[in-house]
Amino acid sequence: MRLAVLKEAATGETRVALLPDAVKSLIAKGLEVAVEAGAGLASGHSDEAYARAGANLSLERATLLSSADILPVVNAPPSEDQRRLKRGAIAIGFLRPLDHPADLLAAIEAGVSLFAVELVPRITRAQAMDALSSMATVAGYKAVILAADTLPRLFPMLMTAAGTIAPARVFVIGAGVAGLQAIATARRLGAVVEAYDVRAAAGEQVRSLGAKFLDVDLGGLVTDTEDKGGYARELSEEALERGRDLIAKTAKTADVIITTAQVPGRPAPLLIRRDAVENMRPGTIIVENMRPGTIIVDLAAAAGGNCELTRPGETQVLNGVTLFAPLNLPVTIPGHASQLYSRNITNFLGLLVKDGALHLDMDDEIIRGSCVAHQGQITNPRVAQSLEAYILPIPSNLEPRT
Ligand code: NAD
Repeated sequence: MRLAVLKEAATGETRVALLPDAVKSLIAKGLEVAVEAGAGLASGHSDEAYARAGANLSLERATLLSSADILPVVNAPPSEDQRRLKRGAIAIGFLRPLDHPADLLAAIEAGVSLFAVELVPRITRAQAMDALSSMATVAGYKAVILAADTLPRLFPMLMTAAGTIAPARVFVIGAGVAGLQAIATARRLGAVVEAYDVRAAAGEQVRSLGAKFLDVDLGGLVTDTEDKGGYARELSEEALERGRDLIAKTAKTADVIITTAQVPGRPAPLLIRRDAVENMRPGTIIVENMRPGTIIVDLAAAAGGNCELTRPGETQVLNGVTLFAPLNLPVTIPGHASQLYSRNITNFLGLLVKDGALHLDMDDEIIRGSCVAHQGQITNPRVAQSLEAYILPIPSNLEPRT
């Protein structure tokens, strides 16, 4: 059984799917591992480290692909790579099956079994495989560091002989995995933190981190803001507007706003209106590149963003307010992002590989839930629906997923 680790092809990608220590443990389990030369360099892992772990280093990407039984990836490989994979091989990674299903067509047609880490069900048994949480943790941390580095003020309260400095005020919108990490990081830096989430259950977690939780009175507009998976439900326009009013009021006095609100499978909810930005601390730009006003980091940018003015992937300065809309902060911390991801992938592979051989138990909730395609057939109904326009066979017995 041969596993291949490739250098990620996506522009700007710095992470690698498996680290040398993971390679070593997989070899110990009976796998043969081949690594494309340079695969780990951008995340700080040399070819020598992979060789020491027992991997065969190769410059022949095409051969690596055509001989691989297992291909762990960070991003879906380009179509020309997918076409080289052999029938029955498996690929696993952030395949974006719901937002970019057509990018997987070549692999599906080639008979490759695809597993998307985004679809791993968030059950207790799968926590160690939860790559979404791993990357959200890194992004939440980095969003605060980015803001702290940009803000022309200090975060902690300081009492010095030259006077007292007030702590920075940080407002976190959306207290899921990324938001909670942002709160913890801002608190460690000494900021005063307030947070808002539509799920009341988030309140306790926010308070346990030493931050203030802001409750919105939804006045009976919504009876249950949380689904059975622990995710937020999509709110009505009227309920959303109550949140926007609270956000606009709180944002007026914030130095930093980190916004992370998302609803799975939907565009990010619009929570910061244009007028809220206009009423934030503007500051006057005196020196070029100076960012005197409020700093917003919109971590929901990849899903469209939480701010009306967000332009995904761009940084704007609007009347002194800086609005960052990064699409992939984990690539800026590739060492630890790769370490967490590599561990998630290794744990997932532990489910698929038994005694050195592939064992795809489709009765296993995690395997079935994360499977996008198997033996040339699309196994996920939502992906099947999106790809209906293509000439692929769509099994009629697909159970709708909730
Ligand atoms: P996410 O990225 O989908 O959303 C981020 C946050 O935005 C969530 O807290 C959500 O409630 C919030 N949000 C959505 N709409 C909003 C609105 N209109 N206004 C304000 N906030 C809004 O979520 P996530 O961070 O991936 O996870 C959310 C929850 O899922 C966790 O808190 C947890 O309960 C659960 N979870 C469970 C596991 C597990 O058991 N393995 C792992 C990770 C997360």
